[in-house]
Amino acid sequence: MTEANTQPEVNIGLVGHVDHGKTTLVQALSGSWTDQHSEEMKRGISIRLGYADATFRRCPGVDEPECYTVDEECEDGSASEPVRTVSFVDAPGHETLMATMLSGASIMDGAVLVVSATEDVPQAQTEEHLMALDLIGIENIVIAQNKVDLVDRDRAVDNHRQIQEFVEGTVAEDAPIVPVSAQQEVNLDLLIDAIESEIPTPDRDPGESARMYAARSFDINRPGATAEDLKGGVVGGSLVSGELSVGDGLEIRPGREVDEEGQTEWRPLETTVRSLQAGNNDVETAHPGGLLGVGTGLDPSLTKGDALAGQVAGEPGTLPPTREEFEMKVDLLDRVVGKEDDESGESDIEDISTGEPLMLTVGTATTVGAVTSARDGECEVSLKRPVCAEEGAQIAINRRVGARWRLIGVGTLA
Ligand code: GDP
Ligand code: MG
Repeated sequence: MTEANTQPEVNIGLVGHVDHGKTTLVQALSGSWTDQHSEEMKRGISIRLGYADATFRRCPGVDEPECYTVDEECEDGSASEPVRTVSFVDAPGHETLMATMLSGASIMDGAVLVVSATEDVPQAQTEEHLMALDLIGIENIVIAQNKVDLVDRDRAVDNHRQIQEFVEGTVAEDAPIVPVSAQQEVNLDLLIDAIESEIPTPDRDPGESARMYAARSFDINRPGATAEDLKGGVVGGSLVSGELSVGDGLEIRPGREVDEEGQTEWRPLETTVRSLQAGNNDVETAHPGGLLGVGTGLDPSLTKGDALAGQVAGEPGTLPPTREEFEMKVDLLDRVVGKEDDESGESDIEDISTGEPLMLTVGTATTVGAVTSARDGECEVSLKRPVCAEEGAQIAINRRVGARWRLIGVGTLA
């Protein structure tokens, strides 16, 4: 395949309750196991939210949906043709830390909601994740009714009806529900067909200035590398607009915290793009979609250990301001969603009050903020760590409820 059609052009989130089969489905579609990401690790661009690219293909002369496959060889032995490469973002299973899921969501163009046919609907995170998709406005959704190999027909039909009732009135109301078995690789053609029609590649303007959300950053040098061999810092993340090419200038905000005569201040970093990895290939120019590894001229100590995760990179002079505090309009949910039955704590969501700590997710940045003033429908927060964000940016608002941070609403930066 050529570089053009192996570079993923759309990011699709895999969401749903733990053990419902998200990772198995990604594996079936991409042939890679996101829980291990050894290949990405080697390349130094892996991400906590496991990313895996999948190339959808079609068998010539076969009708839809049966024509769709991820195999290079068709049943009749002929070669399949690539249609589109997509990048799956596999939301973490166990500790469903809403923020991690949402920081992935900020770069999701659509989502596959995986629901197991073996359990009643909704399970805690099925509800929590759907609510998050609703809040952040991800409308292109396909529902995979998974593990149909484990249930009989009646149970499958009943479960299908439960799913339908559950999504009524939500952003997933019209989403197709595709019965599949990720493990037995049943109906993957139907699922690909649904993704192809429901989750199109967004229209993007290559002339827009480049904007990338950093999700990770690394020092890829081996200990003891000599000065000549030392490679610049690597930033991993997703381009959300524009294009990035080798040789381009790059500004990263908020940048680094510098301490001068007892005063600390955040200063943007400036560097150049030295190399680009997209869709597991070295490329000269990268487009939005999938995970990008950007080799920079930065001192690797600046990028070590995810130091730049949550920051924003782009063409120098075009980035939004760095904010240590901001005001936001607030939309609260009616009640805490996704709570397990045995968890204590209030289910109603009380108004935000002055002085309380909130965990805020802005783009890929997660930061704790203290509320300095709260009024009806809006509040001001002072952040522990600043964020780079523009007016109108969407913010996921989490409050500590019981033992966990819980999504309580969404804010809009004023
Ligand atoms: P995740 O937590 O949503 O990522 O779930 P996993 O993909 O890790 O799957 C949880 C368990 O369910 C694993 O043991 C899988 O092998 C199993 N599983 C996943 N999909 C299917 C399926 O379609 N049929 C059956 N029988 N088991 C499945
Ligand atoms: Mg998983």
